[in-house]
Amino acid sequence: MRWSELPAGTFLYKADPQRGAEWARLFARHAPQLDFRIWPDVGDPAKVRYLAAWLPPDDLGAFPRLELIFSIGAGIDQFDLAALPPELPLVRMVEPGIAAGMAEYVTLAVLAIHRQWATYAAQQRKHAWRALRVRPASACRVGVLGLGVLAQAALAQLVRLGFDCAGWSRSARALDGVACHAGAAALPDFLARCDILVCLLPLTADTRNILNRALFDALPRGAALVHVGRGGHLVQQDLLDALNDGQLAQAVLDVCEPEPPPADHPFWEHPAIVLTPHIASMTQPETAVTVVLDNLLRHHRGQALEGLVERTRGY
Ligand code: NDP
Repeated sequence: MRWSELPAGTFLYKADPQRGAEWARLFARHAPQLDFRIWPDVGDPAKVRYLAAWLPPDDLGAFPRLELIFSIGAGIDQFDLAALPPELPLVRMVEPGIAAGMAEYVTLAVLAIHRQWATYAAQQRKHAWRALRVRPASACRVGVLGLGVLAQAALAQLVRLGFDCAGWSRSARALDGVACHAGAAALPDFLARCDILVCLLPLTADTRNILNRALFDALPRGAALVHVGRGGHLVQQDLLDALNDGQLAQAVLDVCEPEPPPADHPFWEHPAIVLTPHIASMTQPETAVTVVLDNLLRHHRGQALEGLVERTRGY
């Protein structure tokens, strides 16, 4: 068996227990030597070697033999990096299932905006049969903030559909069919060519509040926002102002701070906002467990881990 050389020990899972039960079945099948446990059933804390969590336990000191922490999600902003022992590797979720889900959601949102789905829904309610001009995808300029694993999966689909694609990242990147921009100095030129802006950045000290009035004003008038990063990227009142004065035409928001927004929050009712409950993508147990076990094998063999978080840059 591929993972038979992994040593015995406890793998502690601390996230959604329903999906945890699927992880448990997969671990039992692929690596039965590991004692897979779902929080709060930790067993003997001294035997816990690995932890996979959305939110880690408050007291990691209770697990003296912990060797590795996995984030259950692609992002790690929910972890307090300062509270983690500096020598403990933190690995984020880089798995094909989450990338495929994100590519679906972003493509769905971009197509819905491009093909004016909201307008047709409103027309239907008024019994109006009215065709709007259909423009080719090549006439629609889509830009993605962030050019990481998830952005690349989404862009691959958008390029295939013929959209005029660009992206922005911290360091220089080269992607087929995508005009790549890098660094703060390149941001204005990038924004000026985005009819639809997609945010797929990690939330860090540098990117918090990046979706603000100045950024919206740098987009072409009437642009749309698809926000699938983290709620902390967005200055909410700036979005509402930009929508209300027509600088932005619409926004699709999958993330919010807090989640969910309070019952009286204007996002719920705003006619130009589509709000979804942080479901753009989810870690898929089948593919995630394979990726996690492969990383355990790399760790066991002293090889570099995939998805290792660089603490200093915060993602
Ligand atoms: P990656 O780490 O693979 O990619 C992050 C990208 O953002 C990189 O291209 C990086 O630049 C860029 N970046 C980071 N900081 C800056 C900065 N200061 N300026 C410019 N670019 C920057 O992450 P993933 O693609 O795997 O995930 C991205 C995010 O998506 C997650 O952190 C999470 O917030 C969100 N997410 C949302 C989900 C949802 O359901 N809504 C599900 C999963 C993730 P460089 O290439 O130079 O490193």
